[in-house]
Amino acid sequence: MSFTLHQEERRQFERLLRQQRIDRIADRLAVLEAFLASEGHLGAEGWHRQIKKNGVDLEPSFVAQTLDLLVRFGLAAKSEFEGGAVRYEHQHLGQHHDHLICTACGSIAEFHDAELEVMQERLATQAGFLPLRHQLQIYGLCHKCQSAREPTLPLALVSPGERVRIARVAGGEELNRQLMDLGLVLGAEAEVISSGGGPLVLAVKGSRVALGRGAAHKILVTPLGQQQ
Ligand SMILES: [Zn+2]
Ligand SMILES: [Zn+2]
Ligand SMILES: [Zn+2]
Repeated sequence: MSFTLHQEERRQFERLLRQQRIDRIADRLAVLEAFLASEGHLGAEGWHRQIKKNGVDLEPSFVAQTLDLLVRFGLAAKSEFEGGAVRYEHQHLGQHHDHLICTACGSIAEFHDAELEVMQERLATQAGFLPLRHQLQIYGLCHKCQSAREPTLPLALVSPGERVRIARVAGGEELNRQLMDLGLVLGAEAEVISSGGGPLVLAVKGSRVALGRGAAHKILVTPLGQQQ
């Protein structure tokens, strides 16, 4: 966000504080300053640490109270996430977004989809409901955590129709050479065509290859999902 917009928000906050006869204006502006400098989604303790990094040491209760003031003045949005975690984030007037929350690493990504917003609006009005605000939170695994979680398994255990990527070969040089001839090098993608008894049949780069079960047990692969 632009510098001038933040200057404007700072000016408005200061004016509201004076109007409401709220004390410790300089300290409260230090809270706002840290808050404006980040697009993070943090709890009150998180913001307290952030402000301390900026060289201003305020009492945690003062920071929490100031964050609630920011919410009251429409400069911050307060969200309660799964498990009761409360996070504060910067809010620009007239701008709305929803969240994708990773349950493994806690990362929060923002998204905005105009079509989805209209659908929600329509759904509420059709139910005779006047929608005023909403928060959409989608919980799951972020891209990074998904790849970290991806299990490797022996090719022999992969079901027909599944696509895999060769991750590791636990065999000697001879097997490696044999696989290279088939196009089954590290990182190569293959689709399992059949695996019931006998040799495995795979599609590799548009051609079908057969592989003995013994070899298929020595090849570790990462599943890439079902073939369309
Ligand atoms: Zn939304
Ligand atoms: Zn994650
Ligand atoms: Zn957000």
